[in-house]
Formats: sequence, structure tokens, C-alpha cells
Amino acid sequence: MAFMDLPFKPRRGFWWVLAVNMSPVRLLLSCLLLKETFALTGRFWHITDLHWDPTYKLTDNPELVCSSSGKRPASGAGKFGDYVCDSPWELINSSMYAMKKILPDPDFIVWTGDDTPHVPNEDLGEEAVVNIVGNLSHLLTEVFPDTKVYSALGNHDYHPKSQLPGAPNYIYDRISDMWQKWLDPASRETFKKGGYYTERLLNRAGLRMLVLNTNLYYDQNKETKNSDDPAGQFSWLDRILTEAANNKEKANVCLQCQVFFELLGLLCDVIVYQVYIIGHVPPGFFEKKRSKPWFTSRFNRLYLDIILKHHSVIIGQFFGHHHTDSFRMFYNAEGLPISTMFLSPGVTPWETTLPGVVNGANNPGIRVFEYDRDTLLVKDVVTYYMNLTQVNADAERWEKEYRLTESFRVPDASPASMHRVLEQIATDPCYLQKYYHFNSVFYDLTDCDSDCRVDHVCAAREVDFERYEQCLVKEEAVSIHGGMLVILSVAASLVISCWY
Ligand SMILES: [Zn+2]
Ligand SMILES: [Zn+2]
Repeated sequence: MAFMDLPFKPRRGFWWVLAVNMSPVRLLLSCLLLKETFALTGRFWHITDLHWDPTYKLTDNPELVCSSSGKRPASGAGKFGDYVCDSPWELINSSMYAMKKILPDPDFIVWTGDDTPHVPNEDLGEEAVVNIVGNLSHLLTEVFPDTKVYSALGNHDYHPKSQLPGAPNYIYDRISDMWQKWLDPASRETFKKGGYYTERLLNRAGLRMLVLNTNLYYDQNKETKNSDDPAGQFSWLDRILTEAANNKEKANVCLQCQVFFELLGLLCDVIVYQVYIIGHVPPGFFEKKRSKPWFTSRFNRLYLDIILKHHSVIIGQFFGHHHTDSFRMFYNAEGLPISTMFLSPGVTPWETTLPGVVNGANNPGIRVFEYDRDTLLVKDVVTYYMNLTQVNADAERWEKEYRLTESFRVPDASPASMHRVLEQIATDPCYLQKYYHFNSVFYDLTDCDSDCRVDHVCAAREVDFERYEQCLVKEEAVSIHGGMLVILSVAASLVISCWY
């Protein structure tokens, strides 16, 4: 079965006949018109952190509802789950069918991992992990049989958890078999070697999806911490991005009229060079816990260096792992915004047990990205969610949470616009509060105080370890001397007047 039979792929034979019968001027005009048609907005789904807990069951003893609660009482347990538990099958199923209902025919699906429950290693094993990944993959294929899925491994998609090696192993092997339908033969090779791969995007030359296994850089991963470049992923990434950048330069002239060149049969396979990067564990810091990074400091630096070096071809980065809704900005040496990493909310509502995090649960979220099919520029982000308390009491319902351009009054989701969003959050209590409610998908509706503001702003603004610490100092000073404390306390009473 063909994965993608995309309507915008030019059919050369037809256009060639048309081209030889038209004057050059008319031909140029026609192709400019066609270029506009091809540049229509595309849409794709991003889902992440489904964390299926097969032990979830409704029972009289709230401590025994699910293993993933770790004996915390699941006092609000219902058909679709509880905030201290990972997802029951009902929630997983409901999220995928909600995707089908909201946007049944996306260009593709991005799925950034973490399929198994938060339970001790002893409660899982290699077979259990493989089976859980298999069940979720099967459901996604069943609901979207003809849609291309780009799927990244999460730190929970391995046994023991987070110990993903930079070398071939049984789990990479089994999962690459399972995902065969979504992987080219070359992708299967690199996946088996290190859990990463690259595929064409939209079946078009030059547009690429890079699927990373950033679990190799996770500071919890003992398998890779002594390696300079686990599984050779950094050098592979650098090579692919260098090739893309070189080709982009050569083909730059073609961008002026892509379809014109396509019609003439010239350079048709080397037109645009743009990539998306997806992965699970992000670089930088967790916005809900001060000074909590995920990568080791060396791997964090190496990742950042690659983004800075190749930002001209990297048009978007899409990650998960936090379960919260946030984003990370990347700036060049002159301080200009050059790239954004979108962190999408998880499907699991599971309240984190990370020490120091208060109220760390979320409502289940799923997300549509709208983008320009020609340039891959992210135009908008629409998040849908399930209010778990409400649906457990009432009936199954997924609703729109927010649209980025409406809620933050920006023209698109480009790095420049996301920089504006961040500055609004940093300086306007109304935007800060709104962002904070979105961060937990409307779970935590308390006020974001001045410490909270600093945590969220610095995590979004600085991926680099040193610059993050400097940001904390700077923003703390703003909070105290700039009167933000006063503003924030007043803000609580104003929040009601903020628009959503
Ligand atoms: Zn997760
Ligand atoms: Zn994770």
C-alpha cells in the first residue's frame, strides 16, 4: 500500500505537453500561479508521551487503580484515566479517534515516543516494552492506514528505561520491524544502529524529516555517557545538514520559480532544502523545575552548536518528554531568533514524581501544526485537549484549547513571531498567565508568581547552560527592581479580563 500519493506532486508528462504548447511568458505566469497553488497550507499531527498503563482498572481501592500511580490514591479515577495514572487504553483509543475526527487526512503524523507506563523496571521487561510499542503502533496504523508516520523513540521505549544504547540491540531491531511500513530501507539501517533515521518529507526532493534518538544524550543514560558521539548520530546529523545547506546554495536560484524549473525538467530533484527535526528528550531546561536540564552539559553544547551552524535549513524542531506545552528559542550571536523547538503536551495526564515539581499533572493534549508546504514555515499551532475531570463525569469530548496566532496575536509561528510570544510572556502578566494555563493544558489554573515567571521565561529563552543561569540572575533582578512582583500580584485580579 502506498503511504503517500500526494496531490501536489507535479506530473511531469502532463506539464511537459502543456509547456511545449505555451509561450515562455504565459508559461512563466502559469507556473507562478501554480507555485501559489502548491504553496497551500499543509497540516500535520504531533502526538507524544502516550504512556499506556495496561494495569489501569476501576476499583474500590484508589491505591490499586494503576501501577503508574506508585500507590498514590487515584481519587478521580474514571473511564478516561486519573491525574496520578498513566493513560488507560480508553484514553489512548479516544485520542487517536479524536485525531481522525478533527483532521482525518493530515499530510503526515509526528509521534515522539514514550509509550510505556511510569513503573519500576522490574514491572516491565524487553518483551513488555516491545509489545506496548507494538500495540500503539498497530492502533495508529489502523486509524490512519494511509498516512506516513515519523516516529521517534522515547526514553521509556526501552528496557531498562532511559538506557538506550548507541549500538545495535534487540529492541531497536524489533521496533524497526514493527515500523517497517513507515521506514525506507536506508532508515531501517540507521535505526537498527542507533534509533535514528531520515526520510523524505511530502515525498519531495530536498524536504527532509530528521528523526533523532536524543535519548542517547539524556543524563540518566549510563550506556552513552562516556561516548563522544553515541551511535555516530551527531556526525551523521552534521553530514546530512551540511549536504542540505550546500545543495540549498546551489539550488537557490531555483527557489525563484520552482515549478518553472520543474516544467523544464531542470534541477527538478534539487530544488529546496529544508528540514524538520523531531525527537523526544529536548535540550535545555525543564520550565517547571529551576536548573533542571535533561542532556549532559557536553551533549547539550554539541546539539546547540549543530542548530546554530545549520539553522538556515532547519525550519522546525518538534519534541516531547515534558508532557507540558512549551517552546525553546535559539538565537544567533547577534541575538536574532533563528529557530524554535516546539514542545507538545502529552496524552498521559500522569502527575510527575520529579522532586520539587508542584502540581505537575496535565490534561491530555494533541496538536495540529499548520505549515507552508513549500517552505515548511510553521504558520500556526492548534492544540486540542480533553478535560479529564469533566469527561470522566460526563461524556467523551475533545475540544480546541487554543490557536497560537489568535491567543498570542502573532502573524505566524516563525522564530521571529515566537520570539515576540516569549517577550510578551516575559513582560505582560496577562500573556504570562495565559501561557501558564496552556502549559499544563488547563490543569493548573493557579497564578504564575514571580519565581514561576523566571523559570518559564529562562527555560524558553536559553537552551545553553551558562546563558540560562545568567538569564535567571537577570530576570530575578527584573522581578524585584522592575516591580514585576507588584505587577504580578495585581495581575491575578486582571487575569479574568485577559482574552483566550
Ligand atoms: Zn513521557
Ligand atoms: Zn520521556
